[in-house]
Amino acid sequence: MKNPPATEAPADAEARRSFEPVICYPTGSLPPYDPSVFAVARAGMELIETVTVQPRDAETFHVPQGHFLRVVCPGGSQVGDLNLWNADDLDERFYTGKTRALYGTHLSTGDKLLSNMPYLRPLATITHDTLDWYGWDEFGGSVHDVIGTRCDPYTNRLLTGGDYDQCCHSNLIRALADETGMNLAEAEPYVHDVLNVFMCSGFTLDTKQYFIKASPVRAGDYLELFAEIDLLGGLSACPGGDCSETHSSDVAVCSPLTVEIYQPPAGSLGDWGPPARSAYGGGHGA
Ligand SMILES: [Zn+2]
Repeated sequence: MKNPPATEAPADAEARRSFEPVICYPTGSLPPYDPSVFAVARAGMELIETVTVQPRDAETFHVPQGHFLRVVCPGGSQVGDLNLWNADDLDERFYTGKTRALYGTHLSTGDKLLSNMPYLRPLATITHDTLDWYGWDEFGGSVHDVIGTRCDPYTNRLLTGGDYDQCCHSNLIRALADETGMNLAEAEPYVHDVLNVFMCSGFTLDTKQYFIKASPVRAGDYLELFAEIDLLGGLSACPGGDCSETHSSDVAVCSPLTVEIYQPPAGSLGDWGPPARSAYGGGHGA
């Protein structure tokens, strides 16, 4: 959001604005997404665990490497805030910033969820998205964003002066603390910016501010991810419900979400192998 300019535009302002953009991180050097790699596994995979996430709360779950995870909307319209960690090392976690820089503001089938530096490797690959029909709407909105961070009590306090304890940030902290035995203060630094599953959002066309609108999710919709390494996940059922109006309060109608873990048949992943952490040596020019 920018104020009216205090600086007079130069005579060649339009020429300076007309420089062609270039993609900052072209992904053409990466192997293209090949759904056939996962086709046999997906066709024969077996549901081995179902976790229910109650409204205004969060749950953790484990997804073994080479298994699939589905975030499902079983009933009422509801968005979920997803965190992912390396199950063996919580310091390695989902990095929305670089994922966004490579794959865009909203994710769908074929996109990879990258981990933070110095690891920087795919934690998961999206293998199916029943909302992929949505595309982009007239407001510039789309589904499953990596731009909204997560609702949290600090921003709520900043903007309203009030306190609310069931924001996604707090829900994920409680769930991670329960999972690990850490206390809340110990768990908090591990909670990170999320994939906003089923969230419909974007940046306004005029001021480029983050907006939310009613999720198009229907009962039975799901986002499916393939675990590239052993994952610990956390999912919060956002207090914003379908995020059509407000969040960070008990005002919105909220519904449960479910997490389903699927095991593929043995040998069904062919040549797939887990990604190694970044091979950069860490010299940093010193
Ligand atoms: Zn939330």
